[in-house]
Amino acid sequence: MAAVRTAIKGGKVVTPTEVFEQAEVLIEDGKIAAVGPGVAAGVRCEVIDASGLIVAPGYVDVHVHGSAGHDTMDGTREAIAGMAKFFATRGVTSFCPTTLTVRAEAIMASVQAVYDCQQDPPEGARPLGVHLEGPYIDKGKKGAQPEQHVRTASVGDYKGFFSLGNIRAITFAPEIEENRELIAFARSRGAAAVVGHSSASYEQVAEAVKLGVNHATHTFNQMEGLHHRKPGTVGAVLLLDGIYAEFIADGVHLHPAIVDMIVRLKGPDKALAITDAISGAGMPDGVYDLGGQKVLVKEGAVRLEDGTLAGSCLTLDQAVRNIAKFTGRRLGECIQMATLTPARSIGVADHKGSLERGKDADIVILTPDLQVKATMVMGKVVYRA
Ligand SMILES: [Zn+2]
Repeated sequence: MAAVRTAIKGGKVVTPTEVFEQAEVLIEDGKIAAVGPGVAAGVRCEVIDASGLIVAPGYVDVHVHGSAGHDTMDGTREAIAGMAKFFATRGVTSFCPTTLTVRAEAIMASVQAVYDCQQDPPEGARPLGVHLEGPYIDKGKKGAQPEQHVRTASVGDYKGFFSLGNIRAITFAPEIEENRELIAFARSRGAAAVVGHSSASYEQVAEAVKLGVNHATHTFNQMEGLHHRKPGTVGAVLLLDGIYAEFIADGVHLHPAIVDMIVRLKGPDKALAITDAISGAGMPDGVYDLGGQKVLVKEGAVRLEDGTLAGSCLTLDQAVRNIAKFTGRRLGECIQMATLTPARSIGVADHKGSLERGKDADIVILTPDLQVKATMVMGKVVYRA
């Protein structure tokens, strides 16, 4: 059978090394076959005209609970599929459904649902595996995580979560003695070891990095803050090169200047945009559920009844537009923080996160003001505005 070939022509093309003012992306059997000016010349293929538009790698969201009325904790294929379909409309081509601090059986039901969707992918963005947020966190930094289920790590509790081989990241508090052995365990199974919901001191984070911690959950939010005599979790995350730093650029969780600060200190190679979105993202204001808790969505913010921020309504395309506005960074750098850097942070950059020969053809086509025009997953168009 002849190869299925598609060329995206005429657009400004964002690659890790260069932004071409006008170039072509040649796709063959779901993979990127070539990128650059003139690479599709004379090749018989279907053509997508991207004149006047930007061609970028599809967005990768490594920390997202839900969207469009669905939550990872629903624990069903339907929920993950509903998220996948919505994300495609926002330029997201892969994501890590993210769990909450709840009973082990409930976490496991979600891990299983994600696994099933990885085996038999739904239409839209592809789930890459699970981000476990908790349950081994610090009660003092629980945020919207239900306190009654916060616990210390034990192999008996967490071994099951890793049994399907699809945990990409686990957020925990490394300053708690019992949680330390989890670091080597998670890393040996290919998961990022993520400091978050934590009161760790600068020194405790530095120690944890030596043991394998390599990533931080929503930098600044629910972690020990920066003080000039106690740099805290935040100081360590900002300064230690071994840590990838997630941040929520919705303009609510962080002041725009703080987003700029994170990006300046970490650089686009280590700072990554996440949404931390919940089921109310992409939905009207109202009351939604977050792992069994009532949350109120109002004017772009999500809060528990006591006012605690409880995830966001952000979408990753909006995050990229906000980063451009908050930081004034170049296009390629803004895109990188929502694509290649998150892909690297969870160890999937060999096939995801950039427009390079041999990688999956996960592509977003954007207007010059970064609105999503079309989304392609594994070489197939899954969304057109
Ligand atoms: Zn979260």
